[in-house]
Amino acid sequence: MAAQPDFKLALPPDFEGQVLKVGDHGYDDARLIFNMRWHESQPALIAQPANVADVQVLMRYASAHDIPVAVRGGGHGIDGTSMPHNQLVIDMCPFKEIVVDPTSRTVRTGAGVLLSELDAACQQHSMVVPSGTVSSTGIAGLTLGGGIGYNMRRYGATVDSLLACDVVTVDGRLVRASKSENSDLFWALCGGGGNFGIVTAFEYRLHPLDNIVGQAFLLYDLDEAKAMLLDLCTFMKTARRELSVIVILAPIPPMPTISPEHYGVAKMAVHAVFTGDLDQFDGVINEITALRKPSQVVKGQAPWVEVNRMLDNLAPFGRRSHLRGGYMDPAVDGVIDIITAGALRAPPSNHPAPSTIQNIWFFGGAISEDFEEDSVAFSRDGAVCMWECFAQWDTADDDANFQGWIDTIADELGPKLRANGYINLTTDRGQEWLRGAFGSSEKYARLLAAKAKWDPKNLLRFNKNLVI
Ligand SMILES: Cc1cc2nc3c(=O)[nH]c(=O)nc-3n(C[C@H](O)[C@H](O)[C@H](O)COP(=O)(O)OP(=O)(O)OC[C@H]3O[C@@H](n4cnc5c(N)ncnc54)[C@H](O)[C@@H]3O)c2cc1C
Repeated sequence: MAAQPDFKLALPPDFEGQVLKVGDHGYDDARLIFNMRWHESQPALIAQPANVADVQVLMRYASAHDIPVAVRGGGHGIDGTSMPHNQLVIDMCPFKEIVVDPTSRTVRTGAGVLLSELDAACQQHSMVVPSGTVSSTGIAGLTLGGGIGYNMRRYGATVDSLLACDVVTVDGRLVRASKSENSDLFWALCGGGGNFGIVTAFEYRLHPLDNIVGQAFLLYDLDEAKAMLLDLCTFMKTARRELSVIVILAPIPPMPTISPEHYGVAKMAVHAVFTGDLDQFDGVINEITALRKPSQVVKGQAPWVEVNRMLDNLAPFGRRSHLRGGYMDPAVDGVIDIITAGALRAPPSNHPAPSTIQNIWFFGGAISEDFEEDSVAFSRDGAVCMWECFAQWDTADDDANFQGWIDTIADELGPKLRANGYINLTTDRGQEWLRGAFGSSEKYARLLAAKAKWDPKNLLRFNKNLVI
């Protein structure tokens, strides 16, 4: 049980940043996070450091008084762990620095940077850090869990491009973590979540990416989902790494590019993003449509920064939400039947954005083949696809309805999912689940050893928490 912080103790006078308490101007804006299910949560104090020295001041203070600390990056964490009730929050939003070095092909970012901001800065040099698909996500929380998105088949997970971190330790020291400095800490930060220290800056390897890319939405009726998903499984095994496919099962929203008779009907959309030579784009999409003819094709070319925020429409900020996910293989008997039956049972919603979504992300390519499972804490072993079920709604009265929809599908799928998984794209499933999530008992033991060394008092406990 978290000790209650005693905020009668004053923060040290050398803290230069901003401190917000209930009733202060700016407090309610600062405590706003993605998932409105945690909106009632009122942290005792939100500290916004002005600089790295401030983070050190805060951690020395917290450590001296045994005060647990929560950390906010982009505020996207599904469990609301960045804004816990009655606790001390260190809000890293002010850390917005981005320095791109095209010569060394590296970028250094502050811990408050969002995916859209990083994408925009890197694309000025036709480069990219492989990251995620919703632009308001924080680079910090995403990286610390692993990071998957449209470039994972071409360049790997975000942590596969992570070179170093600046970290304030729980006792207030500033250390660097990389493969050659504090390598145990670095390994653990590459997928073990926010358990080990407060990262103030990340350094990544950059990869070339043209500014204009191709994308297509191919629409299928749900009764074709099984055959098409199985065809895609075979196809993606040898597909080009520049091709990314996320299959989306959801009721079709009103969109100018989609015929009105499809609106509100649960369908399957194959969302293909192609970042290779655009002369080959039509050919690549034709290969997919040749597998099975879609009822509608919407395709075109657009700037990468726009394509990589296309799914923002499916996840607007400011609604209640729930999320479960896991690694799976569509070829395993019964998996597709559970998913498609679940899509048909989705609770109705009047919201203009689709509110009940299942995504199937195809792995393969770099993320699956170029990096050893043990090279980072993030686990990818055996992942053919990542299944993700996500819902959004607006009132507490609907919590049980939407949450129940997701949990029922997830529980039916449970025995067919792999034990390892991606900790960021699911709500916390507890210690037993976490023990398996990193892929092996050796990796889990390595994480526990890092936790024991870098945060022995578990001050950083508002996360997918490694309990020693
Ligand atoms: C709508 C939606 C879309 C998503 N899409 C993707 C996607 O495409 N790809 C993907 O990989 N993931 C995706 N995610 C998952 C996302 O990566 C995680 O939710 C991630 O934790 C968000 O990071 P954040 O900084 O925005 O969140 P926050 O809620 O601010 O942080 C989450 C946790 O990260 C830790 N943390 C944050 N900053 C620091 C820091 N500086 N130092 C130490 N610990 C820190 C803390 O433990 C904190 O509780 C998505 C999530 C949502 C809700």
